Amino acid sequence: MVTTPATATTIKPVIGYVHSIETFGSVDGPGIRYVAFLQGCRMRCEFCHNPDTWNIGTGDEVTSDEILDDAIRYRAFWGKQGGITCSGGESLLQIDFLIDLFTKAKAEGINTCLDTCGQPFTYKQPWFDKFKRLMAVTDVSLVDIKQIDTDRHKRLTGFNNETVLSMIQYMSENGHHMWIRHVLVPERTDYDENLKELGEYVSKLHNVDKVEVLPYHTMGVVKYETLGIDYPLKGIEPPTHDRVVNAENYLHVNDYQGYRQFPFS
Ligand code: SF4
Repeated sequence: MVTTPATATTIKPVIGYVHSIETFGSVDGPGIRYVAFLQGCRMRCEFCHNPDTWNIGTGDEVTSDEILDDAIRYRAFWGKQGGITCSGGESLLQIDFLIDLFTKAKAEGINTCLDTCGQPFTYKQPWFDKFKRLMAVTDVSLVDIKQIDTDRHKRLTGFNNETVLSMIQYMSENGHHMWIRHVLVPERTDYDENLKELGEYVSKLHNVDKVEVLPYHTMGVVKYETLGIDYPLKGIEPPTHDRVVNAENYLHVNDYQGYRQFPFS
């Protein structure tokens, strides 16, 4: 008779797929931040300047401990507000890794920030329970609303805006803090009627700490050339200063300057 030797149970670490790391990020959340750009995105935003983050399941394989150990080396620069941001790509595609990393970061007293476009959001289980676990260890989320008009959103990104708006609604109703961001693209998002509607939509939300208008830029064009992908916005120039100010007025950005200081009371 053959007997099987008893084996010790080993817990496999959750693996994350990372595109790149920025150690002194100043635009992806409060203060100075360690930013992990996670690999993979299903959307195809015409203005995306990081098409090299699209492929899912590629990138550098890391564990949360490796990211945390690396991040903590920069902790002295974070001050009271900084911390760790996970961006993308679409970070929510790697929700298990986010839960693992942010849970450990919170145990170290580190501010956590999620940058997402909300495309993977669903109330289906088990995903939704994971999302609630993630929110419990996330201090603030940077959420892009690409277009409030769903048809124009679909043309711009390949998806309608239903999932991102339901995620925002959930955050609004459950005390999860957000920065709302909107990329201003001539001929795609820079329409007064859409900006007005977006401003009205955002003004009805709770827990919005900050609203930002991000002017479209063409710095990603060279990546499309390198990857051999046709650039979808050929011939479209960045918005003028006047149009940026116009969008900021419609979105009432000056009403949202008081984002919370960390540690939060
Ligand atoms: S969601 Fe972000 S990473 Fe994905 S295509 Fe759009 S801009 Fe690019």
